[in-house]
Amino acid sequence: MTFRITTALAALAVATPALAEVNIYSQRQPELIAPLTDAFTEATGIETNTVYIDQGLTERLSAEGSRSPADIIMTVDISRLSQAVDAGVTQAVESETLSDNIPAEFRDPGNQWFGVTTRARIVYASKDRVAEGEVTTYEDLADPKWQGRICTRSGTHPYNLALTSAMIHHHGYEAAKAWAEGVKANLARKPQGNDRAQVKAIWAGECDISLGNTYYMGKMLEDPEQTEWANSVRIVFPTFEDSGSHMNVSGVAMTAAAPHREDALKFMEFLASPEAQQIYAEVNYEFPVKPGVERSELVQSWGNFTPDTVNLMDLSALRADALRLMEEVNFDG
Ligand code: FE
Repeated sequence: MTFRITTALAALAVATPALAEVNIYSQRQPELIAPLTDAFTEATGIETNTVYIDQGLTERLSAEGSRSPADIIMTVDISRLSQAVDAGVTQAVESETLSDNIPAEFRDPGNQWFGVTTRARIVYASKDRVAEGEVTTYEDLADPKWQGRICTRSGTHPYNLALTSAMIHHHGYEAAKAWAEGVKANLARKPQGNDRAQVKAIWAGECDISLGNTYYMGKMLEDPEQTEWANSVRIVFPTFEDSGSHMNVSGVAMTAAAPHREDALKFMEFLASPEAQQIYAEVNYEFPVKPGVERSELVQSWGNFTPDTVNLMDLSALRADALRLMEEVNFDG
């Protein structure tokens, strides 16, 4: 009897030498990731396990150390990617597929992280109460003509910190601080909620414009409860006075302790493939990083725009300054 069980276990061990799987720690919502992991499993037969971690991704990986089951992290915002690299929880990945498919400006020069999509931080403007051409630059949002008309999420949310970092990059700390004070003076209400909640507030008549990321328009149109909010606004691409519209990335990195390195690399390469890039475009309404992959029809309908030329690493380096600035002006207070 004992012999038989041992044999059976041995046979099982031979049949599955090292389980083909990739463990993902994701700071992106599960429904955004599932279409990609499903397509990856279909294409390769490699299973994926996704753990959704809203806060403290880097801290968790640090705490788990070499025992961490995670192979991959997926997150948004350049500062979160840089934070993981700085904490030493990622590893460099050499891959021709990744360097061929992802333009240099969207990946770490040391190959520690790779951007897989981009998005713009734009203005949602009330169709009824904001005239064509009324929204121009980010700088102009501090103009008293917007008094009582702007809604936004917290000034210390990564999306707004990246925008503030870009403002510091273009104009210097003091001018950026004056700008943030001006925007604060124009707020219709204290910063609260997420990007979609601001559009709801426009729909409800509480404010006329809000800051938000582009893909939320697509997400709101998909949700029966939010379609009306989406239809009450249009997307306007503001620019910096001397540059273009503010951009950020979502990205991927391999963890330092990755137990399934080879399969994790296959997953990263899959995310940069035309198939996955198209899923990002069609399902998530993001901008693909791989040249030649089209934006979705809906995203194209928002029109063309000029992206800001600031380097993502420069933005990341200014994050601490941006946080201090937002605290100094007590933006959320
Ligand atoms: Fe988001």
